[in-house]
Amino acid sequence: MKTILIAGGCGFIGSNLCNRLLNDGNKVICIDNLFSSKIENIKSIINNENFRFINHNIIEPLQIDSNIDEIYHLACPASPPIYQSDPIYTLKTNFIGTMNLLDLAKEKSARILLASTSEIYGEPQVSPQPESYKGNVNTIGIRSCYDEGKRIAETLFMDYHNQHNIETRIVRIFNTYGPNMNKDDGRVVTNFIDQILNNESITIYGEGLQTRSFQYIDDLLNGITKLMKSDYFYPVNIGNPNEITIKQLASTLIKLTNSKSKFIYKPLPADDPTNRNPDITLAKKILNWEPRVDLITGLKKTIEYLKNV
Ligand code: UDP
Repeated sequence: MKTILIAGGCGFIGSNLCNRLLNDGNKVICIDNLFSSKIENIKSIINNENFRFINHNIIEPLQIDSNIDEIYHLACPASPPIYQSDPIYTLKTNFIGTMNLLDLAKEKSARILLASTSEIYGEPQVSPQPESYKGNVNTIGIRSCYDEGKRIAETLFMDYHNQHNIETRIVRIFNTYGPNMNKDDGRVVTNFIDQILNNESITIYGEGLQTRSFQYIDDLLNGITKLMKSDYFYPVNIGNPNEITIKQLASTLIKLTNSKSKFIYKPLPADDPTNRNPDITLAKKILNWEPRVDLITGLKKTIEYLKNV
């Protein structure tokens, strides 16, 4: 039985990971300050004897009395409207918060994994994006606090690895969806499903020709838990290479729900990437991982979840 700390454990990915690691027979310490996440996400496990919730902002140093074997660093708002609502906080989380978690990993001799992001590729000039692509990121735009924040977090991880011999892992997560997403968080999958369920128009930003590659949460959890166990400390893309336009996503959801909702077009936010598609050659090779859940199956499960919250 391992003791595993999950920073950002009440969020969408974090709460699903808490469940998974508890089911696998571990002790889980969940750290979260509920800035963009919900305590409801952990209500089914809050009384589990192997689970402990600590309400803490990682910008402040952490003191944990028990031993820790592994740390998953998922603490950062990830939805554009939410991370843009307080960009300096987003940057602090990624810089100061990341340093605090790395210092904790050093103190406890724990292995630590960073949830980095496809956003570090910015507006990509190559497709699909391999890990070797260095990205094309605006340093002064509305998305910069997140994109540059995650870039500095990756740098900190490598420097702690090199300078302090910390066992670090870095995953670059592409757009992920599934149960426990907050229906109000402003991201495209939840916005569209919520609008359909309320018989509202579907808000397409720009012409809806920008692409994303959506992966289901279970595939991501398989990928990050495999990466944590592996010996590989350079960044690894985890995502589903099934690239579609935002308009195709909207049409797919309309078909799945027999919805009568119409499209309504709104301005494209600044620096919104035109395309996103993971090259997962590396994950296949070193982790023997690839996504298994197709978009229709995953969307059906997500619609069911959002109907019931
Ligand atoms: N988007 C949209 N309508 C919405 C919300 C988002 O057309 O109601 C678009 C958004 O402009 C972007 C894509 O969907 O091109 C994915 O947006 P999301 O916020 O989910 O994630 P990210 O931009 O970080 O990939």
